[in-house]
Amino acid sequence: MKQERILVTGGAGFIGSHLCEKLLEQGNNVICLDNLFTGQKDNVRHLMGNPYFEFVQQDVLENIYVECDQIYNLACPASPVYYQYDPIKTVKTSVIGAIHTLGLAKRCHARILQASTSEVYGDPEVHPQPESYRGCVNPNGIRSCYDEGKRMAETLFFDYHRQHNVEIKVIRIFNTYGPRMRTDDGRVISNFIVQSLKNEDIAIYGNGKQTRSFCYVDDLVNGMIKMMNSRSDFLGPVNLGNPEELTILELAQLIIKLTDSKSNLVYKPLPSDDPLQRKPVIELAKKELDWEPTIALEKGLLKTVNYFRTLV
Ligand code: NAD
Ligand code: UDP
Repeated sequence: MKQERILVTGGAGFIGSHLCEKLLEQGNNVICLDNLFTGQKDNVRHLMGNPYFEFVQQDVLENIYVECDQIYNLACPASPVYYQYDPIKTVKTSVIGAIHTLGLAKRCHARILQASTSEVYGDPEVHPQPESYRGCVNPNGIRSCYDEGKRMAETLFFDYHRQHNVEIKVIRIFNTYGPRMRTDDGRVISNFIVQSLKNEDIAIYGNGKQTRSFCYVDDLVNGMIKMMNSRSDFLGPVNLGNPEELTILELAQLIIKLTDSKSNLVYKPLPSDDPLQRKPVIELAKKELDWEPTIALEKGLLKTVNYFRTLV
């Protein structure tokens, strides 16, 4: 593969740091741009000495002045706890961040990939979710800042392509987990693992019958890089996720088993608009990218538990 100069916004976050690492391994120059809202320097500390790696502490709401061949746009808090902390900023990050990175792609003639999300399907009435499903999203609820921000970012990506010929790629990421999630991230896998390792109560929101399908971060990163380097007329959107679906209750029981924990289950109210079921259809990714996940949930969880053991 040719050596590229690659910008990763949100590069000090959970997924972004794994992506930076992999892109460097493949011999590229990587510029990691992050405002460190949910990201941490510790996630990329091991890359700091690499002469092909550059860290820029900056917000995507400011103009970005770098030269690059490819852009991965990941800047945006992904955990409901963090994206609901300052919802107006979350909308700005998705929308203005997309305008700034797309403008940069236009000026540099760079190819740009947007980290969109399964949240564009909202609380889905179609199950499992193919890319053709247009979603069931509440426009004014507590999750809307994230869901609608990401939907608008997709709109901007396709409009920059139609209007300015920008080479775009759009992926819809389904729940992804792995090492370097924050202990206080607030998402279900990190919460359950931390609670289990401390033998504290595990808090299930609602009755625990809602489902999710979890993808290990290494699988996702491989899919992202394949999508970025796919043929130029394949724009997406393409689902990237692991179709292995389970209920949140089953997840809690599995994590208790894997950590040999004494934690008890407790039930808390389900937050509003929390999707009841989610599972990706990944036929398009299989066909166009020759991609599918290879790491089973138990295996990925064990790697993640080992990471959290070093912190808890
Ligand atoms: P994360 O919160 O760890 O990473 C987001 C990164 O963006 C952080 O480093 C944060 O500091 C940075 N950031 C936030 N706002 C910024 C701003 N205004 N300017 C510059 N940097 C900013 O979350 P993640 O799980 O690594 O998610 C990465 C991307 O993938 C996000 O865009 C998210 O929406 C998308 N995604 C993730 C999942 C998942 O399950 N992890 C699912 C769907 C989509
Ligand atoms: N959840 C839970 N306990 C927690 C955190 C989350 O029961 O401590 C539930 C949450 O209500 C949702 C599912 O787990 O139904 C996944 O939540 P997460 O915040 O990880 O991601 P998202 O809802 O965005 O898929």
